[in-house]
Amino acid sequence: MALNDLSIIVVGAGIGGLAAAIALRRSGARVRVLEQAHALSEVGAGLQISANGMAVLHALGILPHGSGGPGLRSAGTEIRDCRAGRRVTVMPAPAAGPTYYFHRADLIDLLRMTAERQGVELLLGQRVVSYEAQQGAACIRLADGPAQNADLVIAADGGRSLLRRGLVGEGAPRFTGQVAWRATIPARHDVSEARATLTMGPGRHVVTYPIRAGRELNIVAVEERDDWHEDGWRHRGDPEDLRRRFAGFGGELAHQLAAIDSVHLWALFLHPVASRWQNGQLALLGDAAHPTLPFMAQGACMALEDAWVLAQCLAGATDPANGLANYQSTRRDRAQRVVAAAAANARNFHFKAPLRQVAQLGLSLLGARIARRYEWIYGHDVTR
Ligand code: FAD
Repeated sequence: MALNDLSIIVVGAGIGGLAAAIALRRSGARVRVLEQAHALSEVGAGLQISANGMAVLHALGILPHGSGGPGLRSAGTEIRDCRAGRRVTVMPAPAAGPTYYFHRADLIDLLRMTAERQGVELLLGQRVVSYEAQQGAACIRLADGPAQNADLVIAADGGRSLLRRGLVGEGAPRFTGQVAWRATIPARHDVSEARATLTMGPGRHVVTYPIRAGRELNIVAVEERDDWHEDGWRHRGDPEDLRRRFAGFGGELAHQLAAIDSVHLWALFLHPVASRWQNGQLALLGDAAHPTLPFMAQGACMALEDAWVLAQCLAGATDPANGLANYQSTRRDRAQRVVAAAAANARNFHFKAPLRQVAQLGLSLLGARIARRYEWIYGHDVTR
C-alpha cells in the first residue's frame, strides 16, 4: 500500500515518536508530530544503542552507514564488585556489532533534524488529552487548540501513555521498587577503549560509560527502595544523598560519585507489555507499548525497531488496519522477551552475599559465554 494518501499523527517526540515519524514519512505518509513539551530539551544523560538499534538509525538515514555519528563506539563492558571496585570480568562487544554511547540530547537532535529535513511537521507545546474514532477518521483533542484529524494515530507518548489507557483499559503503572539516579561529570577518556562499567552491590548497581568523545562520563546508579516514588522525569536529587546511599562503592567509582554536583532521579514505574497494541486506527509504539526496566539498555532500541517495523507493515499491507495488525503480531513476542530479560537482570545485578560471590565467580569463569546469551537481542536486524 502506498502511504502517499495517508495522514498520520504521531503523539510524542521522544526517540520512538521521532523515529516513527521519519520511517512513515520515508514511506510517503504525511506526518505530524504532536509533543506536549515546549522545547525538545533533555536532561544530561547517556543512552546505549546496541547493534539492533543502530541498524535502524542507519537504514533510516539518521546516521550514514557504518558511522556512529556523535556516538562513541564501545569495546565491551567491564563488570566490577562494589567493594574497592574489584574487576570481576570483561564482557566483549556483542558479535552482532558494537554498541554506541550517546548523549540523549545529541540523539534527539539528530532525529529532530532528520525529521524536519524530510518534511515531518513537528508541533511543540501540544498536549493531547483524548483520542476518538469519528466516521473513519481519528480525532485528537488537545489541551489547548483545535482538534486534529488524521487517518491513523501512533501513540509514542511514553511509559505513562494516556492513549494506551484508552486502548487497553487499565489504570496507572505500578512502582517497581527501583529508583535510578542519573548524572554526567566532566572526564578525559581514552576513546579507543571506551567501555561501560557495571558495578554490582547488594540491592543496587551503578553503570558508567563515556559520552561526547570521552569528554563526559555518564553515571546511572540504581537502588531498590520504597520510601520515594514520585512521578516525573525531572526530579532533582541531592548529590550528598546519592553518595550516602552508595557509600559502600569503592575504588575509582567512589571518586566519580564524589565529582557529581548535579543529579536527577527517576522512580521506575512499569506496565506489562500491552495486551493489545492497536485497534485499526490507533497503534502504540515504544514505552507506550512495552515499558521496560533499563537493565538491558533496550527501551530506546526497541522503540527504534518498532518504528521501522510499523512503517514496513503499513507499506506492505492492503489496508492500514491489516498493516497495524501485522505490526502488533511481528513485535509483541519480541518485546515481551526483551522486557523479561531486563527484569531478570534486576535480580542478577543486585544479589546480596553470599549469592553475589557465587554469581561473580560464575561471571568470571563464563563471562564471554554469558554475553553470547544475549545475541538474540543484539543480532536481530529488523531492517534486513
Ligand atoms: P519517551 O522518551 O518517554 O517519549 C514520550 C514523549 O511523549 C515525551 O516527549 C513526552 O513529553 C510526550 N508525551 C507524553 N504524553 C503526551 C501527551 N499527552 N501529549 C503530547 N505529548 C506527550 N534505552 C536504551 O535503549 N538504552 C539505554 O541505555 C537506556 N538507558 C536508560 C536508563 C534509564 C535510567 C532509563 C529510565 C531508561 C533508559 N532507557 C534506555 C530506556 C529509554 O530511555 C526509553 O525506553 C525510551 O526513551 C522510550 O522512548 P519513547 O519515545 O517510547 O518514550
